Amino acid sequence: MTNTIATKAAPLLGQSLEELTIWVERTGQPRYRGKQLHDWLYQKGAHNLEEITVFPKVWRQEMASTEIGRSQIHHRTKTKDGTNKFLLRLADGAIVETVGIPTSKRLTVCVSTQVGCPMDCNFCATGKGGFDRNLDKHEIIDQVLTVQEQMQRRVSHLVFMGMGEPLLNLENVVGAVRVLNQDIGIGQRNITISTVGVPKQIKRLAQHNLQVTLAVSIHAPDQELRASLIPSARKYPIESLLSDCREYINVTGRRISFEYTLLAGVNASPAQARQLAQLLRGFQSHVNLIPYNPIKDADYKRPSPTTVELFAQTLK
Ligand code: SF4
Repeated sequence: MTNTIATKAAPLLGQSLEELTIWVERTGQPRYRGKQLHDWLYQKGAHNLEEITVFPKVWRQEMASTEIGRSQIHHRTKTKDGTNKFLLRLADGAIVETVGIPTSKRLTVCVSTQVGCPMDCNFCATGKGGFDRNLDKHEIIDQVLTVQEQMQRRVSHLVFMGMGEPLLNLENVVGAVRVLNQDIGIGQRNITISTVGVPKQIKRLAQHNLQVTLAVSIHAPDQELRASLIPSARKYPIESLLSDCREYINVTGRRISFEYTLLAGVNASPAQARQLAQLLRGFQSHVNLIPYNPIKDADYKRPSPTTVELFAQTLK
């Protein structure tokens, strides 16, 4: 017989095998059903309990209102190179973007961590749209499962580079990384967490002892220019940011990569490339150069291929 329990609780997605086992036992089911539920959530991608046909029908009907935590697809676009962009509708109606980027060997998901973003970077469309809320752990995990199921391929790599600043939602990001690694099977070394820098948070991330890659969006070779592009950088000088990066490397033994969005006439000159090389000396880091994709609410322009090439050659 099924016990009557309150079903309005944390969604099942995001819970560990142990937590799911405790939950099924509380609903009157035997312990082994925890493993079954875990497999159906994380490997088979169940969207509701009704789909989990190994469970008794009566139980599924009684527990039908239990929230699993899956989103709905609001919109999907595909580009010629195979990239799939999804807008997902969450339980409260909020919309977030997630992107699946395939190559012959990989399927990478670019994951969002917030609805909107409070960092207000001058060149970013998400920043211009303001901030609504942090995503919960299950809402981050759901993005990966959705891409996997829609693109019918296992996700091999993750980059936390979608909407939001991951280090402002650190606990949910770290919780999601643990589930994506332990319960879904994505290697921590295939996961990159990107940040424009939030005081104290790089140190906090280091304490979680994850084997993920940290990607720091530097975007300028000096404090003054950086603070003009990224308003939040006014309170986090570039020297403090790089000092925290050095500490992250010492604590975790992992390298850091740097992201640099190239904006024509702003940060893309050969002199700025030399300045950047000097600034990052000693890091042995890869600098990922990203020619800007213009947006309608900002005047920045994409540099020419020649400018990008010259910057890259000077930086070497
Ligand atoms: S932190 Fe990222 S998402 Fe947020 S405003 Fe800056 S570039 Fe955009």
